[in-house]
Amino acid sequence: MIVLRSPEEIEKLRASNRVVALAMKELKKAARPGVTTLELDEMAEAFIREHGATPAFKGYKGFQHTICASVNEQVVHGIPSDRKLQEGDIITIDLGAKLDGYYGDHAATIPVGQVSDDAKRILKCCEEALWRGIEKARAGNRLFDISHAIQVHAESAGFGVVRDYVGHGIGTNLHEEPQIPNFGKPGTGPELKAGMVLAIEPMLNMGTEVVKVLDDDWTVVTADGKLSTHFEHSLAITKNGPDILSVSE
Ligand code: MG
Repeated sequence: MIVLRSPEEIEKLRASNRVVALAMKELKKAARPGVTTLELDEMAEAFIREHGATPAFKGYKGFQHTICASVNEQVVHGIPSDRKLQEGDIITIDLGAKLDGYYGDHAATIPVGQVSDDAKRILKCCEEALWRGIEKARAGNRLFDISHAIQVHAESAGFGVVRDYVGHGIGTNLHEEPQIPNFGKPGTGPELKAGMVLAIEPMLNMGTEVVKVLDDDWTVVTADGKLSTHFEHSLAITKNGPDILSVSE
């Protein structure tokens, strides 16, 4: 069942998502050569707690950290560590927070210093693909209209769309129905309604869409070792269209 949230609940979701978006703003500034992913994690946790919220990923299925930090060929669920970021890396930071019983979830891939033209191209395409999906998050559309818009934008640029990980509903749980794949047939899937709150999150690979999980049981990497990117926003569907919640303004 896909839960429809009241306007009051949507304001609570806006508050939790705003904390996450504000934290991301700080992390984007901090993601420079020489900083470790663990330092970014500590920064994120302190920021979230200072804002009266709690990290949503810490303790989730045994995950020990506030952010997922996925560098270069790592797709999602990278574990913060002593690894120092280097000029030319790209790092995906995914973070969640719970405030007053409601969850926020947001991700972005960040260039570290100057990155290659190929990296710039896939970063731009992945963020655009997210917005193509968001544009379809309207009452009366079908769920896989979102999926299809993302897929077409990514594949027409020659990138692989990760199949094994998907977006999701979000509310009083971090992950709720529906699952939102980043590929699919337009005009199919559940009808979208005002009050649905969705976390849309395309993951695009430079090469194959095939991924594997490392021996740490968390880190997902591309099977061919090429770069991967990931952008995510949480939004509410309203009568007036998509209302992006994971923004800092
Ligand atoms: Mg998510």
